[in-house]
Amino acid sequence: MSVAYDPQNIFAKILRGEIPCHKVFEDDVALAFMDIMPRADGHTLVIPKTPARGLLDMPADALGPFMLRVQKVAAAVKAATQAEGLTIQQFNESAGGQVVFHLHVHILPRWDGVALRPHTGQMADGEVLKAYAAKIAAALSETTSR
Ligand code: AMP
Repeated sequence: MSVAYDPQNIFAKILRGEIPCHKVFEDDVALAFMDIMPRADGHTLVIPKTPARGLLDMPADALGPFMLRVQKVAAAVKAATQAEGLTIQQFNESAGGQVVFHLHVHILPRWDGVALRPHTGQMADGEVLKAYAAKIAAALSETTSR
């Protein structure tokens, strides 16, 4: 049985502007912002404006446009952090590792031989996240103006 979308989840609150975030990108389809407990430098989240709990309840017609935003933000994250690669993660339900129940895609910059940091529950320095957000946003406007 599928579980209903809860509009009180933290990412819905971020979408409504009730909770702040370090914003990287926003349009009518998606919002991208820095993960507050980054597992890699430049760890970015992309969420759809459509209220979906996970991948499986995302309406088919909204999925394609959303994934195009994920691709676009991923390219900017890679360029801004000069990463050698990217790990893209998306979790569904507690058993699948999901903690926040609004569909989100993790974009994790990667470098050879550098492991992801464990989830410690430790929040990153706001100034550091702000600087990454600005750098990625700048790379985004560069890649889209080309
Ligand atoms: P998961 O649902 O397992 O994909 O994990 C949710 C992710 O959201 C984790 O990586 C958290 O660090 C991140 N997170 C939780 N609350 C916030 C917040 N207020 N702003 C940014 N990222 C958050």
